[in-house]
Amino acid sequence: MPELVFFSGTMDCGKSTLALQIEHNRSARGLQGMIFTRDDRAGVGKLSSRLGLVAEAVEVAEDLNFQQHLVRHLTAGGRTDYVIVDEAQFLSPEQVEQLARVVDELGIDVYAFGIATDFRTRLFPGSQRLMELADRLETLQVEALCWCGARATHNARTVGGRMVVEGAQVVVGDVGEPSGEVGYEVLCRRHHRRRLTAASARAGALSPDVLPVDEPSAAPPVPPGGKVSAPAPRAGSH
Ligand SMILES: [Zn+2]
Repeated sequence: MPELVFFSGTMDCGKSTLALQIEHNRSARGLQGMIFTRDDRAGVGKLSSRLGLVAEAVEVAEDLNFQQHLVRHLTAGGRTDYVIVDEAQFLSPEQVEQLARVVDELGIDVYAFGIATDFRTRLFPGSQRLMELADRLETLQVEALCWCGARATHNARTVGGRMVVEGAQVVVGDVGEPSGEVGYEVLCRRHHRRRLTAASARAGALSPDVLPVDEPSAAPPVPPGGKVSAPAPRAGSH
């Protein structure tokens, strides 16, 4: 049975690497894929990973209709056994519905890869629709770490080096590679909530005065059972 699968994770968790791995495994078995992406760091019409792999891709425009695109391709004698969509958080809900029809009506597997939540911890509309419609959800078990060493589960946006929690949902930038003023950093939820990025933690370690005002002055109460869930911050580690 063909299926719609949504692989979700934070920025920097290896989604594109896994997408390219799936592409490699299937094309090695003689299957023909069609890859879609948007705003990839390698440029228009490319899917790339941080590990240096690159594949040709179709750039997703806002008005792209996936179903029509595939039907035209198949009608013209093309072949597509599976579809890979990277940066799927940028899709509109309608485009996600088209992907479901590609699976159901054209019998093609669709593997979508995207970030679940934005820098405000809210679901992207495209990711929400994928969670609602997917046959299978895969949460990528993140290797990305917060500066404190905990698993990085949340995306932070920085503007001019400071973490922000308001602004447009989509502003293209990259982890560790600020695009203009805007950069991104992955954090654990604890430090996302406290707006404590690696830079502000380093500054805080040097001068306690610059810690954010909402930083609690006392350690949080230990819950019944005495289990403290997060390790103590290690400022400056990476
Ligand atoms: Zn942390």
